[in-house]
Amino acid sequence: MREDFLLLNPGPVPVTREVRQAMSEPMVSHRSAEFEAVYERAQDALDHVFTQSTLDGETTASDGTSLVFNGTATMAMEAAVANLVGTLSGRGDDGKVVPLVNGKFGRRFKRIADRYASVDPVEATWGHSLDLDEVRETVDDDTDVVTMVHNETSTGLLNPVEEVGEIAAEHDARFVVDGVTSIGGDAFRIDDWNVDVAVTDAQKCLAAPPGTSAMYATERAQEAFDGDAAPFYEDLDWHLRKADSHQTPFTSAVPLFRGLAVAVEDIVEEGMGERIERHREQSRAFREAFTAMGLDLFAERNDATEYSNTLTAVSLPAHTREDPEAFFDAIEARGVSISGGQAHLGGEIFRVSNMGGLSSEQILRGVRTIGEAFEE
Ligand code: PLP
Repeated sequence: MREDFLLLNPGPVPVTREVRQAMSEPMVSHRSAEFEAVYERAQDALDHVFTQSTLDGETTASDGTSLVFNGTATMAMEAAVANLVGTLSGRGDDGKVVPLVNGKFGRRFKRIADRYASVDPVEATWGHSLDLDEVRETVDDDTDVVTMVHNETSTGLLNPVEEVGEIAAEHDARFVVDGVTSIGGDAFRIDDWNVDVAVTDAQKCLAAPPGTSAMYATERAQEAFDGDAAPFYEDLDWHLRKADSHQTPFTSAVPLFRGLAVAVEDIVEEGMGERIERHREQSRAFREAFTAMGLDLFAERNDATEYSNTLTAVSLPAHTREDPEAFFDAIEARGVSISGGQAHLGGEIFRVSNMGGLSSEQILRGVRTIGEAFEE
């Protein structure tokens, strides 16, 4: 792979040389003091990222615990739902989950919840805003869990977590939020938005290698967890007990934890406010450049929603839809990689990420390359 190959896919994103070096250190046991120190560094830095994702460095939660899993965000999403409404122990009644779906990852939560509980989804066309009145009508006092994706990576729409959090809190439902492509790159306020469990992935805004994910579980969520009701590997009571001594219940992915620790410490060093500003400026630059090229952004905003600050989804023009592969190949031939649409959006859109530690030059190179590919 060329050293200057530019990954602009919405994950995995580029990682620094220091992260790569950390992953190639000599192996240690996951029960050693060396490993515990690595996990503790990752937890401390993650605590900062989860609770101080604000422009002014304000702290938005203080009583929770950061966990890291050997597994990508889907595992963390499943762990959250299963520990809150799982019935594997045979003890629980069938819980009720309201998943909000307006893209592929909202649908993923719904598919997960379907395995553990009765599901009463609120759905909108992918890329369109959810109807908050419908959410109000659907969430009731029988609702155990509401799930939602903050930044819908499949469409480039930023969903209104605060408004939905208010509705969940009115009915004392636990609120599980996928912040996979926002946390570490955009503002996220745990207590103000009534979030009980937030999950994120290493390979997105954290700019760490793919393979691990992280969760922030508030005290309120921890009280509601029933580890016996979840898959054995995802028993969060057990993960939390072991995390107190900076260990995981099973063998930790040592090199990935090391890479994650370095990447998240880099975020703390940059400063959350600066990082959020940078992501907002870079995504604005992408949106303005693509609009200036005469292209249409895919997401349909309304008053309650915003364009994503970490990922831009653009409708492919008619002439490119005839042979989208040629367009993506022309970009790749210039040493840049972007993504197409997922599921039924394949061949209809392209997606470009500004997650992680990209420079203005890299953003400009992405714009220039995409512009040239259209002209080819
Ligand atoms: N949630 C969101 C918003 C995502 O963008 C992704 C991956 O792109 C996931 C969840 C799932 O991540 P993974 O497939 O790595 O488990």
